[in-house]
Amino acid sequence: MSVKKIEADVIILGGGSAGTFAAIKAKETNPNCRVVVVDKGPIETSGAIGRGMDALNIVSVPGYGTPEDVVEALTKVTEGIIDQECAYVLGRDSLPIIKDLERYTDRKPGDLFPLDKNGNYKCSFLHPTNKALYLAMDGEDIKRGLAREVRKLGCTVLDRTPACRLLTDDNGKIAGIFAFNMRSGDYYQIEAPAVVITAGCVGKFGMPRDGYLSGIYEFPGNTGDGFAMAYHAGAEMVNMECFQTNLLMKDFNGPACGYVVIPRGGYGVNALGKKYWSHGYWSGDMFLAVWREFMEGRGPVYLKLDHLPEETLKGLEKVLWGTERTVRGQFHKQRNEDYHCWDSVEQGMEEITLCSGHSNSGILVNKDTETTVPGLFAAGDCAAVPQQYLTGAFVFGAIAGRMAAEYAARAGRPGAMPNPEQTWQEVSAPLRIDDDKGLPVEQVETKIRTKVSQYLTPPKSDPLMNKMLWWVDR
Ligand SMILES: Cc1cc2nc3c(=O)[nH]c(=O)nc-3n(C[C@H](O)[C@H](O)[C@H](O)COP(=O)(O)OP(=O)(O)OC[C@H]3O[C@@H](n4cnc5c(N)ncnc54)[C@H](O)[C@@H]3O)c2cc1C
Repeated sequence: MSVKKIEADVIILGGGSAGTFAAIKAKETNPNCRVVVVDKGPIETSGAIGRGMDALNIVSVPGYGTPEDVVEALTKVTEGIIDQECAYVLGRDSLPIIKDLERYTDRKPGDLFPLDKNGNYKCSFLHPTNKALYLAMDGEDIKRGLAREVRKLGCTVLDRTPACRLLTDDNGKIAGIFAFNMRSGDYYQIEAPAVVITAGCVGKFGMPRDGYLSGIYEFPGNTGDGFAMAYHAGAEMVNMECFQTNLLMKDFNGPACGYVVIPRGGYGVNALGKKYWSHGYWSGDMFLAVWREFMEGRGPVYLKLDHLPEETLKGLEKVLWGTERTVRGQFHKQRNEDYHCWDSVEQGMEEITLCSGHSNSGILVNKDTETTVPGLFAAGDCAAVPQQYLTGAFVFGAIAGRMAAEYAARAGRPGAMPNPEQTWQEVSAPLRIDDDKGLPVEQVETKIRTKVSQYLTPPKSDPLMNKMLWWVDR
């Protein structure tokens, strides 16, 4: 086993939405900063926005909302379980990142984001407040634009190179990462005083009802490595008891997209065709309402679109079958489903996940993206800034990049590093378990995720959790 060594100043662990922004801002802060980005895929197409995206789910822009309005909306949907300082920063910095996005994707005002007649970015209503805080986006190419900027600024990009361990030095400070390349099999020990962890959510936590391991709402490459690595390095985690329960399009397991459809005039109905819920923003009370419809005999539930004008339906098809999930059009076609029928989009509660973007859980961070481990910064779906969505990934990715570059410039080189041979022995240990002593490695994912769904899907209870822990130990 040979290990390639690389010396860097800042490592970006995960080149998705938050990671690409972090890399760009680290370089813009200090062009001499040696930035290394590692990702499981090619950064042009990896992560939740690999095929682009169609909205910033929460922003504050002039003429529509203030940072205080963002704080109010997020406090409401999280039932107060939120660090309001972070929510304020999310609102405060949303306008600068909108401008950055236009610049990085080479798009003019009014092209990437719609403008109103006063020349302001035109927001719509989505949240359970009387403020319009949702900004649609024609963003098919945003990930490619961000990746282009990362490479143009001279970051070293290691595509298809998953990190499997955060390294700390003998003082408990961040010292780098251990990674391997999927194609060549090469191992890397990358040393740096600052790491920005942006490895996304735990998309593969529970199991979808159809049993497809990768047929999930989230990007299938986001398997929770960020959560696990940060925990292993000693970072404090928060809100881990809060699972995101996905209300998805049944059998398709992709997004049904209430948050796309509702700002355009669609709404959720029960089996009687009655509207049962008003706002499309993911929240505990929304999922409770869905659960009640089923429990009280009014399920299944649907997303109603048939009343919308033809032009709106065409626009929705472009978004839902494009940036949201490219196979959705084909799925409907094969089932002879058509948005002119009121019950064409059946929804179901599917797999549970852990995620801050759509929910609450993750690595504890402050408004400056600092974690409890010196030198470790976190942003995006793995950092617990509740309900921050794509806006938060960009806003806090940008802050993390700046913070990490400044930290690296004053921190000096890491102290004594772990022995790479020993790290390799540890990370590859599960591959060497004999079948008669434990689960064969190819069964681990199916078994654990099945148990997670069986025992941890709400409604939750202590006995269910204890039974789950019993299974985990076993
Ligand atoms: C289907 C869908 C629709 C959405 N729609 C909207 C919307 O309309 N509006 C909105 O505001 N938000 C939306 N969101 C949420 C938003 O896209 C996410 O919150 C945001 O993209 C998260 O950014 P991130 O950087 O944390 O994760 P990602 O962009 O997913 O990036 C994580 C990256 O980490 C990499 N990675 C993972 N593990 C490792 C590892 N071990 N080593 C190296 N790299 C690793 C992955 O390959 C990936 O590139 C949507 C999300 C989904 C899934």
